[in-house]
Amino acid sequence: MLLYNEPGTSLTIHPAGGKPGFALIFRGQQDFDYRDMEQGRRLVESTYAGGGWLTSLALEEWGASDERYFDAVTRVEVPRWTADRVVLLGDAASCISLFGEGSSSAIVGAKTLADAIVAHPDDHTAAFAGYEHRHRKHVRSLQRGAGITSHLLVPKTRSGITIRNAVLNALPFGSKRIDGP
Ligand SMILES: Cc1cc2nc3c(=O)[nH]c(=O)nc-3n(C[C@H](O)[C@H](O)[C@H](O)COP(=O)(O)OP(=O)(O)OC[C@H]3O[C@@H](n4cnc5c(N)ncnc54)[C@H](O)[C@@H]3O)c2cc1C
Repeated sequence: MLLYNEPGTSLTIHPAGGKPGFALIFRGQQDFDYRDMEQGRRLVESTYAGGGWLTSLALEEWGASDERYFDAVTRVEVPRWTADRVVLLGDAASCISLFGEGSSSAIVGAKTLADAIVAHPDDHTAAFAGYEHRHRKHVRSLQRGAGITSHLLVPKTRSGITIRNAVLNALPFGSKRIDGP
């Protein structure tokens, strides 16, 4: 994976099974309609205007592609996952992020719920409460980790980028810095 940052923006190229894909992930608070691809295109283009490295190529590909995905990375904290006989699972309950672990955490949650129902076959209230208690514990640290990952992937400032690079370069698995045009 190749990652290029400017303050508040990132451009990533992922090998994605031999068919490289671009990801443009940036910080912003703008209101937008994620179904309105034209509005999304304008937002991406104005955010990345004048960007370095392969930014102009990525914008061109974005404009030409018919396989665009555009959305906000958001998470709503739901105070309760159950009401009467309704119970939330997966992203609806415990969304992590798009940086990994969301699918596996959804599957773990489903298993935890199934186990809780087996343990309380005649008392769905106790089963749901047991599921929520156990699964909240499981996802809490993952959700915290996603917040940290977002700062590593898209630092807000130039000094944040420098510190992030220094930390990654010091880690044993290493990241490789390529300085280029
Ligand atoms: C760009 C991106 C990259 C990601 N990368 C990763 C990754 O690398 N690893 C990872 O683990 N996770 C990743 N995730 C997160 C992962 O996709 C989710 O955590 C996971 O899909 C959650 O599963 P789910 O079944 O809860 O929800 P979803 O997969 O969102 O399924 C919900 C389903 O309900 C349907 N639906 C919604 N409303 C209704 C309705 N009213 N009636 C009927 N159906 C409805 C939707 O169409 C959808 O099919 C990524 C997410 C994104 C957006």
